[in-house]
Amino acid sequence: MLVMFNSYKVNTLEYKPELCIGCAMCWTVCPHGVFAGGEKAQLVKKEACMECGACALNCPADAISVRSGVGCASAMIKAALKGKSIDSAECC
Ligand code: SF4
Ligand code: SF4
Repeated sequence: MLVMFNSYKVNTLEYKPELCIGCAMCWTVCPHGVFAGGEKAQLVKKEACMECGACALNCPADAISVRSGVGCASAMIKAALKGKSIDSAECC
């Protein structure tokens, strides 16, 4: 039997715009353009998030949460450190 996973949930990034104070840190530090600027942050490319955790770490308003260390970026880093290919690492 085919088991369906949460394929709609591409990563663990969550953003609460009601908490955002518009400090600009998230769209400044994100290397993948996941957030865009404005009066408040705009989540424009959620699917591009590699779960590095930089935005959540730098958000002074706790408006962003992400489980860093569990996604593809983490798997790639762990594989590289172990001298393995990404094919042999657990990844999404
Ligand atoms: S976790 Fe990293 S890649 Fe994802 S939105 Fe935040 S800064 Fe960008
Ligand atoms: S880092 Fe947090 S408070 Fe600052 S703009 Fe981004 S979501 Fe808003």
